[in-house]
Amino acid sequence: MDRTRLIVGAPLLAVPFLALPYLDRSHFSTLEMLTFAVADSIGLVGLLVGIVRYRPRYLAPWLCVAAVGVTQVTGDLLITVGGMIDAAGVLFLPRYPLFALALLLWGRRRHPGRDAATWIDLAVVAVALGLLSWVFLISPQLAGSELRGWTAGTTIGYPVIQLVLISLGLRIWVGARDRTPALSLLGATLVVYLAADILYSVFTVAGQAQVSDLWNLVFLIPGPLTAAAALHPSMARLSERVPENPRSVSGLRLFVLAVVAAVPPGVLLVQYGRGADLHVPSTVAACTVLTSLVLARMWLLVIEQRRIAVTDGLTGLRTRRRFEEELTTQCDRSRSVGVMLLDVDHFKQVNDVYGHQAGDAVLSELANRLATSVRAGDLVARYGGEEFAVLMGATDLATATAIAERTRSAVADRPFVVEGGFELPVTISIGIAIWDAGPGADAPTDLLREADRRLYKAKADGRNLVVSA
Ligand code: GH3
Ligand code: MG
Ligand code: MG
Repeated sequence: MDRTRLIVGAPLLAVPFLALPYLDRSHFSTLEMLTFAVADSIGLVGLLVGIVRYRPRYLAPWLCVAAVGVTQVTGDLLITVGGMIDAAGVLFLPRYPLFALALLLWGRRRHPGRDAATWIDLAVVAVALGLLSWVFLISPQLAGSELRGWTAGTTIGYPVIQLVLISLGLRIWVGARDRTPALSLLGATLVVYLAADILYSVFTVAGQAQVSDLWNLVFLIPGPLTAAAALHPSMARLSERVPENPRSVSGLRLFVLAVVAAVPPGVLLVQYGRGADLHVPSTVAACTVLTSLVLARMWLLVIEQRRIAVTDGLTGLRTRRRFEEELTTQCDRSRSVGVMLLDVDHFKQVNDVYGHQAGDAVLSELANRLATSVRAGDLVARYGGEEFAVLMGATDLATATAIAERTRSAVADRPFVVEGGFELPVTISIGIAIWDAGPGADAPTDLLREADRRLYKAKADGRNLVVSA
């Protein structure tokens, strides 16, 4: 454990030493420039050692990060040896797409499947940050100087890709159940890169971005941080699937979204107060996009709440309320409707002998077998504790009886396996009733009463039976 800490900490220990040449402020030396190349080389070497040592099974994102290291070291050397700052600026640009690709690849492994709500939240944050960066960083840089060609491209390119990175990084960070040291250190690398570049933009706007200035020391940090991340054993687990969080909107998330939504009017107010350019078109565009995203988010929430309201928590089947609603609808629409009520036989014994957990597991498995025994359009609901109901549209008695028989044997023919490997024989009793449209037809509730009566007849006749008359 301590040895791990030592190995992980070693690259970071180098940072203060690399900063030493900066103590002498009387002149700016090549040695100072060289320290960046050394720091980034430490990152690259540490990364390669980590990859060889821990052999992550999903290598692609780590190779992207290694490629970042290569472009960094090359860029540093271009500045140090050739004094080519502009060329290096261009070389530093691919680090972001590469980093973004790594985050995207990890994100997809960690959270397979789509998660629209999280992407919308991230887009909201990205739009707000985009507006801030456009108004306060990019457009002053474009206006205040004779930037052309590549330089103008990088001035706009950096912030745009930074937004993408922040979004992809947040996606992984917010969705992580446990944040391993490797994840935290990589997150810190990203934050430092972003902070360094944003500082660079701020100083450029203020006309003070000298390579010799002390704030450049920030660039000594990301290399060793990457090395530290790769040298921790948890680096191999970065691509492991993260268990799904139950989708809840936390108070913090709502607060952040509320603050972010206030950014466009805030920007307008600040610019108005300063007597500066109001940036009306971009602010209006940001407002419009934000409103649309928030509406989309609300729409998703409504859908999700509706789904939860009609879904039984334990079995994933529909609820009794949903069943009854659908029964009324079907009776209005169809010529005939079949209902099947079923109850597990001697279920109290399962609870008494194997415990409530095992009982729940049986109900859950039973729900699976029910859902696969009925027809595709039939609605299966949990009617009560261990009672279930199936609604069959456009069904005659013979068909309904056949479906019920198939369901009964799907349960009785194969024992249920519960925790501990115990095999429990489970049976169900079923009552069926059919409703036919026409003058003098019974009310839907009479149909349920009839099915229930037959269910109790099945119980009385010895259980594990289907009664249809
Ligand atoms: P019968 O053959 O007459 O139906 O006998 P039974 O023991 O199944 O009797 P009954 O249908 O009245 O049993 C209801 C039992 O189901 C009582 C309750 O403890 C159990 N039960 C109801 N809901 C749940 C649940 O969600 N989980 C578990 N584990 N048990 C439940
Ligand atoms: Mg019961
Ligand atoms: Mg029962």
